[in-house]
Amino acid sequence: MHYQRWRYHGSVHGSANTKKSEALAFLRDVAMKVEADVCLIWPYAHNKDRPVVTIDGKSIYVRVAVCEAVHGPSPSARQTPDSVCKNPKCVSKRHLFWKQIHTGGSMTKVDGSDRRQIRKLSKTKTQTEIAEWFGLDHSTVSRILNGKRR
Ligand SMILES: [Zn+2]
Repeated sequence: MHYQRWRYHGSVHGSANTKKSEALAFLRDVAMKVEADVCLIWPYAHNKDRPVVTIDGKSIYVRVAVCEAVHGPSPSARQTPDSVCKNPKCVSKRHLFWKQIHTGGSMTKVDGSDRRQIRKLSKTKTQTEIAEWFGLDHSTVSRILNGKRR
């Protein structure tokens, strides 16, 4: 095994297939396992600055895969992986979290499935955390949790 080759060197030499399996190994054995507070910059393929890896012929976003492994599936279809360090190439599991996509529309619109998610999340998360995740006011979250509908 060539563990040392997965350390990030900027560029990795080898055939396309070697690169693919190395990228996959990096994802499974480094990105999803290393507990470090430093940034882990994805040294393989990117699509518009976003780290990608090919699994079973399908191209997937590395940050999505890491987020799902660390935090579980996205709490809503409107979540996207973001990192506390704001580096789009960082795949450090300690840095990644699900973030609400701000579509520019009204952020106070909360549909039925969001309400269910918020109630579910309230068992394990604080109202402040939930408000941040969904891009909502704290008062909106507490109104939902108190069962008041509008
Ligand atoms: Zn980072």
